[in-house]
Amino acid sequence: AYMFLNGKLIERTKGKIDVEDRGFQFGDGIYEVIAVYGGRPFALSDHLDRLFESAKKIYMEIPYSKKELEDGIHRLLHVDKREHCYIYIQVSRGISPRNHIIPQRISGTVIIYLLDPIREKENWKRRGIKAAITEDIRWLRCDIKTTSLLGNVLVKQKAVEKQASEAILHREQRVTEGSSSNVWIVKDGLLRTHPADQFILNGITRKQILAISKQQRIPYVEQSFTVDELLGADEVFITSTTMEVTPVVEVDEVKINEGKPGLLTKKLQWLLEREIQSQCFD
Ligand code: PMP
Repeated sequence: AYMFLNGKLIERTKGKIDVEDRGFQFGDGIYEVIAVYGGRPFALSDHLDRLFESAKKIYMEIPYSKKELEDGIHRLLHVDKREHCYIYIQVSRGISPRNHIIPQRISGTVIIYLLDPIREKENWKRRGIKAAITEDIRWLRCDIKTTSLLGNVLVKQKAVEKQASEAILHREQRVTEGSSSNVWIVKDGLLRTHPADQFILNGITRKQILAISKQQRIPYVEQSFTVDELLGADEVFITSTTMEVTPVVEVDEVKINEGKPGLLTKKLQWLLEREIQSQCFD
């Protein structure tokens, strides 16, 4: 397997990162995960745009243009041929003697390599998952896709301890998102998800689902909901690049839709698959 390290294509095991890389010491970096289907990246342009937006929000410069990153990704997919996988791209602020102050005139460390497909995905998509309600202990800039993921790691662990596959997070009574996904409910035919503010990551899959809903005239609102509304919902699902549309059929000990994936959830799942099909296969 190969990787790009600062523009050079090398064997993955040969990649070395300095101990004073700020990504390593401070989590001072940003990243994207992009799905590959049929050997082609899905929504690549949106992901790279979000990468540049994240960079801007942390006063960081990416040492390559969008076009150069795209070319790198296509070269990597060409040497590491795979039907289905994920592209991981990370940009850290770079190497500098340890000090919190953002250093000037250093160049970021850029890595790109491929991640293996998720083994459980198809099963989870078909049967639905169990989720655990957990307090959102993260910071107040969840709109930045940063590699500082300790908060996300700790809430995911809480869910795992409860034999759940995802943590659904809340601040006071308001549900924000999942530890690595956006959360949606359906109540009386109305689709609802948290607005894209500083409390959630504005998911690329979230954006796809909103566009599909608009096009299909499925009524939706970008409005937060409470934990009680989550537990009383007709349907619950999560979205992410890796999980696509995955039904949530149990939240803590409460069964949603009698423990079965909901109708609108399945419809959106299919419509997203159709979109993937049209962009990556035809
Ligand atoms: N929220 C968080 C906290 C995430 O980590 C992710 C997945 N990266 C998402 C939402 C979903 O985003 P996307 O659809 O772009 O993968």
